[in-house]
Amino acid sequence: MISVINNGKIKLIPDRKPSELTQITYLRISITDRCNLKCFYCRPEEHDFVPREEILSYEDMTRLVKALKKYGLKTVRITGGEPLLRQDLDKFIRMIKDVGIEDIALTTNAITLKKHAKALKEAGLTRLNISIDSLKPDLFYQITKGHLKDVIEGIEEAKKYGIEPIKINAVIIRNLNEKEALDFVEFGRKYGLEVRFIEMMPIGQGYIDWKKEMVEPLERVKNMIEEKYGKLVPTTSVGSGAARVYLIPSINTKVGFITPITNPFCDGCSKLRLTVEGNIKLCLRTDEEIVAKDVLKYGSDEELENFIEKVLVAKEISNQNIQFNDYAFGECRRIMTSIGG
Ligand code: SAM
Repeated sequence: MISVINNGKIKLIPDRKPSELTQITYLRISITDRCNLKCFYCRPEEHDFVPREEILSYEDMTRLVKALKKYGLKTVRITGGEPLLRQDLDKFIRMIKDVGIEDIALTTNAITLKKHAKALKEAGLTRLNISIDSLKPDLFYQITKGHLKDVIEGIEEAKKYGIEPIKINAVIIRNLNEKEALDFVEFGRKYGLEVRFIEMMPIGQGYIDWKKEMVEPLERVKNMIEEKYGKLVPTTSVGSGAARVYLIPSINTKVGFITPITNPFCDGCSKLRLTVEGNIKLCLRTDEEIVAKDVLKYGSDEELENFIEKVLVAKEISNQNIQFNDYAFGECRRIMTSIGG
């Protein structure tokens, strides 16, 4: 019943049990590969979508969430494509809540957030991450083919309904938007949000476009912020995950740095991803996936448990095997929208 795509490195070992220490605390689910933006480093102009009938149902996704809870799952992050484009997202949030997950986060481009904020809050969404790569309307349009004002209206609506915390994700690309770092800090201060800067990864369309020269090492952005605002103080924030988070004491605002390229953070990773058609991805660095759809649809509870234990062992091995050469990415060519970022 278990199969592996792009076989090679993932090992599904029949008799080995996962170590008691192995936990999966965080699951990221791509609920749709459709998106209403076209960020140049994320999606090509033209590409095939996963046929609708192959997209995993909310019921099957929830079955995985329920089964992983026994292995330590605490946070589910819903993403895409653009997750607000899939119908009945509020119903899905309730389904996850009902199986006992308290921490339910959403990553969105916020283009249609204004319309959905109230329903999301009522359904029990606990956290929101919003992607904005530029605060200049023209550059925002150049990067995404969308309109910044829709995003700002979405943020204001989410704040109105008390969705908190809201974090901003900004992918920083050299010679494009790195000079805006200080504007992002001011934006965070104005709206009371944490801004997280991200280095561009060679994945999916990014794999095609990516050049070493496009990466702005975030240490430089940190230095730029310190020059203006004074020394940053290491701190934490709810769900900080892969980000190194700092407080800027002089303006009481937090910033985070996600540095997969210049300072990877994979030690002890306890994260899984579920792709839009129901494959489990252990790590963003490779194209390998484990097909979960069949066992989620047709497997007994015992078969599902058995499957998850094999995934946990594969995750243990995958964590042990990660090697950090310089820029040791580049094997994940699947489009980001179907993996979920
Ligand atoms: N549509 C939602 C959004 O815009 O947040 C969710 C999906 S999007 C794929 C999730 C995140 O992945 C976005 O913040 C996007 O900027 C980021 N992303 C996409 N391709 C990337 C790349 N090559 N390197 C770094 N981040 C990337």
